[in-house]
Amino acid sequence: MLEGKVAVVTGASRGIGRAVALKLASEGAAVVINYNGSADRAEEVKSEIEKNGGKAAVMQCNVSDFQACENFIKEVISEFGRLDILVNNAGITRDGLLMRMSEEDFDAVVDTNLKGTFNCIRFASRQMMKQRCGRIINLSSVSGVLGNAGQANYSASKAGVIGLTKSAARELASRGITVNAIAPGFINTEMTQDLPEKVKEGAVAQIPLGSFGEPEDIAEAAAFLASDKARYITGQVLCVDGGMAM
Ligand code: NAP
Repeated sequence: MLEGKVAVVTGASRGIGRAVALKLASEGAAVVINYNGSADRAEEVKSEIEKNGGKAAVMQCNVSDFQACENFIKEVISEFGRLDILVNNAGITRDGLLMRMSEEDFDAVVDTNLKGTFNCIRFASRQMMKQRCGRIINLSSVSGVLGNAGQANYSASKAGVIGLTKSAARELASRGITVNAIAPGFINTEMTQDLPEKVKEGAVAQIPLGSFGEPEDIAEAAAFLASDKARYITGQVLCVDGGMAM
């Protein structure tokens, strides 16, 4: 259980981040719901948590902006006085074949997915080091583990998240902070809903368990890694993908 803990979930206005925020709140954590553009949907997540008796706050921050992340984490500390769990979930895709990919599409994806994860760790870890404990959970992807045609930018960003996770785990271990990654496979969210039917069918054929996962499948893994039960696990990549990357 996570009573007395304060958790930040980036990109928690919908999809996996929303499910993680709801799960951590249901375990007793006070949850900061971060979003970039979807203020109304972030407020809906807060209302749902409060309706169930939990504690939550909504904070806007574009995670790719280094200065904005410093201000964001400062706001979390000034409102809640501590920070125990950071889930770096905010992410985007801009798929396309490598030969035709624009510089802008490459940079946007790496800036949000990889640099955004660095930015939040950079400022959150300072507080966790003072507390001498903390849990950092970064969302990678099966694309970062295996690579994926049409996702050079996304795969690079998510493979980068794995390297960042391992380096941060080594640097922060002596301060009682664990850093792990979750690599989801295909999960039913807005990120995957517009994939052409043919691509979806091709994807399902590569999933030993035979279907897309749900955001709650990822939330369960995140809640475990955030808990005391995972105290001796750091620097790992937990694939929650129906067996795709075994
Ligand atoms: P989603 O439904 O598209 O939601 C993305 C979330 O990220 C939204 O809450 C969005 O907030 C937020 N976000 C985007 N850019 C942001 C920024 N610059 N600053 C702050 N927040 C930002 O995505 P999802 O499917 O839940 O994916 C969540 C994470 O899991 C991502 O890192 C994704 O790469 C990873 N993942 C997903 C799958 C999958 O199959 N769905 C598979 C592997 C990995 P706004 O709406 O406010 O912009």
